[in-house]
Amino acid sequence: MKKQLLLTILIGAVLTLAGCGSSNGASAKAAGSANAGETVKIAYLPITHSLAVLEEAEELANNEKVNVELVKYGSWPELLDALNSGNVDGASVLIELAMKSKAEGVGIKAVALGHKDGNVLIVSNDVKDGADLKGKTIAIPHRQSSHNILVNDALAKNGLTIDDINVVELAPTEMPSALVTGTIDGYCVAEPFGAVGVSTGKGKVLYTSEELWEDSVCCALVLTDDFIDKHADTAKAFVEGYKTAGNNLDAETAQTVAEKYLKQKDDVLETSLKWISYDDLDITEEQYNKLTEKVKEYGLSDNPPAYADFVKTDF
Ligand code: ZN
Repeated sequence: MKKQLLLTILIGAVLTLAGCGSSNGASAKAAGSANAGETVKIAYLPITHSLAVLEEAEELANNEKVNVELVKYGSWPELLDALNSGNVDGASVLIELAMKSKAEGVGIKAVALGHKDGNVLIVSNDVKDGADLKGKTIAIPHRQSSHNILVNDALAKNGLTIDDINVVELAPTEMPSALVTGTIDGYCVAEPFGAVGVSTGKGKVLYTSEELWEDSVCCALVLTDDFIDKHADTAKAFVEGYKTAGNNLDAETAQTVAEKYLKQKDDVLETSLKWISYDDLDITEEQYNKLTEKVKEYGLSDNPPAYADFVKTDF
């Protein structure tokens, strides 16, 4: 009887170790060495837009005050579930998705930008110019995204509206191949998938984000109110470390950290990193208000959260 019980416990232990029944997120400390700092658990997607927090995890691996535990997700809905249910302390996430969660009552704050610029509208080589977008099928990752806004901006620049094209939502990883097969005529999505489209030889950049929306906002670093309230000093050290990491991401450092976490070809990353920067990641009120105007104008949301309620700058 005793032996059977022990066996049951052992089987249970093996299943737990094998990760059965655990969440979708794959969690890992950056360098895995011993340290004494308090841990902040951050959800991310392996994209160039999340490089600042990946770089921070590297820089703080042995910090005595704060460390970053990275939890990788495969899609925005999975990452949102983890953030909204409090399974993580924060995330690098599309700001519109975070705004929607906030509007629905989830206690989170945007504490910094994910990056600056860094988006492109990729189209098939057959598309001649902006006016030629009429009647085309364009993919975006999610209705709640700056990619949706940028597509609307590109259309407005050419006297068109969203009703003049066919918009489809598609998983970012599927977009380059959908362009190659002709299922779609173009797409706008988090990097490096635009650069992947260019590398196939079938796609070209129609617009960069700065040509459509100066000082655009796309991803944000968010923290839960619960974490900020209970771990104020750690939250402060984490946000400071994040901004420092962003400032440290020069071309060479960005390439190194992207190669480690993104598993994409070096030339794809090199192309992608030319479109983005990570210095000075504060979210200004002017910048945020421009975003909320666009969110309302293009029908993403009627009632986005106000800067004072959603953006936290005082740490
Ligand atoms: Zn982004």
